[in-house]
Amino acid sequence: MKRPLIVNGFMASGKSSVGKRIAELAGRPFIDLDSRIEARFGAPITRIFSEQGEVAFRNAEREELISVLETSSDAAPVVAVGGGCLVRRELRLQAIDQAVVVSLQVTADEVVERVGEDASRPNLAGDTRRRAEELLELRGGAYAEAHARLETRGASTQDVAVKALAVWRRDPLAVAAGESSYAVDVGRGVGPAHVLAASEPSTAILLLSDQNVAPLHAARLESLFLAAKKRIARLDFTPGEQHKNLASVQQALEAALAAGLDRKSRLVGLGGGVTTDMTGFVAASYLRGVSWVALPTTLLAMVDASVGGKTGVDLGSAKNAVGAFWQPSAVLCDVDYLKTEPVRGYKSALAEVVKTALIGDPVLFELLERESAGIVARDPDLLTDIVRRCIRVKARIVSADPREAGLRAVLNLGHTVGHAVEAQAGFERLTHGEAISLGLVAALRIGEKLGHTPSELAERTRRLLGTLELMTAIEDEPLADAAELIGHDKKRAGSKVSFVFARGLGDVIIKPLDLAELRELTRGLTTP
Ligand code: NAD
Repeated sequence: MKRPLIVNGFMASGKSSVGKRIAELAGRPFIDLDSRIEARFGAPITRIFSEQGEVAFRNAEREELISVLETSSDAAPVVAVGGGCLVRRELRLQAIDQAVVVSLQVTADEVVERVGEDASRPNLAGDTRRRAEELLELRGGAYAEAHARLETRGASTQDVAVKALAVWRRDPLAVAAGESSYAVDVGRGVGPAHVLAASEPSTAILLLSDQNVAPLHAARLESLFLAAKKRIARLDFTPGEQHKNLASVQQALEAALAAGLDRKSRLVGLGGGVTTDMTGFVAASYLRGVSWVALPTTLLAMVDASVGGKTGVDLGSAKNAVGAFWQPSAVLCDVDYLKTEPVRGYKSALAEVVKTALIGDPVLFELLERESAGIVARDPDLLTDIVRRCIRVKARIVSADPREAGLRAVLNLGHTVGHAVEAQAGFERLTHGEAISLGLVAALRIGEKLGHTPSELAERTRRLLGTLELMTAIEDEPLADAAELIGHDKKRAGSKVSFVFARGLGDVIIKPLDLAELRELTRGLTTP
């Protein structure tokens, strides 16, 4: 439990008493943020509100929380925050990134019951019930953005504290997506207990896998579900990108119907990115949307495909042309699955890992440089660290831009030329990851030419890709042909493309680049 635990929730949801109890159980310090602010102003909150105004109070609250988040300690504390503290999204996202956040859930009735006519709660002044209803409605999405939501109705302080402590111990990551937020667990054997917890309360499950993965990994899951008296059906897709299509989706929808799945049932996708993309899309479509859990079994599916809620299938040669944004309700990355992943796919995924490090995690970049031998050998502890770091970067980006309206485009670093090279190779000679490795080399060299990327960074990245046994010889590709294919994808806006340049480790920028100029620059990459 290296990060603080933040106990969030509406007024009177029991944050302070639950927070104190968790701290006692864990032997950790407890911080009541409101008490800190009262001490700082030397006045009770009602007076701070009436004399200084809510804005002054919120600013002080923000400063106090950031100071807790940024103080590193061997004994990270439990922090109970005021009900309005994490309403500001920017602060909430920082809290979700740097701490574990649990939200205690209450209804307006319970608030009225617990608060009565308590005059010390300025935000509930007047008609308490109406005010509580209004504020709960307003803040519902904010409270939902957490690592876990815990029901308090009919539960003792002890019960809620024990559940919150279990979440803290798991130390999951989280993707903030309003009511559709979810936790991501990464580690060795994040299996049995997590899978079952993530499948509560649904009783019927359709396990979707593929014919390569299922014989290796499905039996353990199935017996687990059966032991927990879940009704389970299974369908194994024919593996391969060429089967990521509407015919496979139809098969899965029919299997769901045949198994009698209702709206409370759940789909579980066990496999690589093809399986998780299709499972998510089937979940989005079946009965107008049921919940699903992703159990990615490839490095690419862990670090990229299963996080962010993009689901879908190809339509003929048009990749991912049909789909939906449909978030999973949990993602469980058991790095032990990676032991059996075929070598070419595993290595290819390392290109996305390098890209992610470049975009948002200099420590990861250095780790990749230092530990390349262990990574190639798939050391599970290293992989846990790497997958966690990648997901953390992606979670930060997709939480800030869930529908790909802007910031999320940084994830396309290396993809503009990469896609063209992949298409030129007929989607066969090169894997997606191999093309992205070449695309990264190209993007850095183009950045260098245009004065955005330091030469040292371009060279260092090329060296790292090579050490990880990835392709780096962009000059060997038929660049004139590839250049013609640039811009034949979604990122094109008229005669310009949004090109992602790396300026330093963890420092990227998106700039419009004239398509004709980009093609010319690509053709010019003929010397190493
Ligand atoms: P994949 O799902 O086709 O898996 C690759 C191969 O490995 C398959 O043959 C599969 O059967 C096998 N396999 C998977 N896990 C295994 C394991 N543990 N042991 C043995 N064999 C295993 O491909 P992928 O590389 O995982 O994913 C590629 C797909 O992901 C593409 O369709 C791509 O569009 C999609 N993707 C989606 C997103 C997104 O945001 N949704 C992001 C990146 C990629």
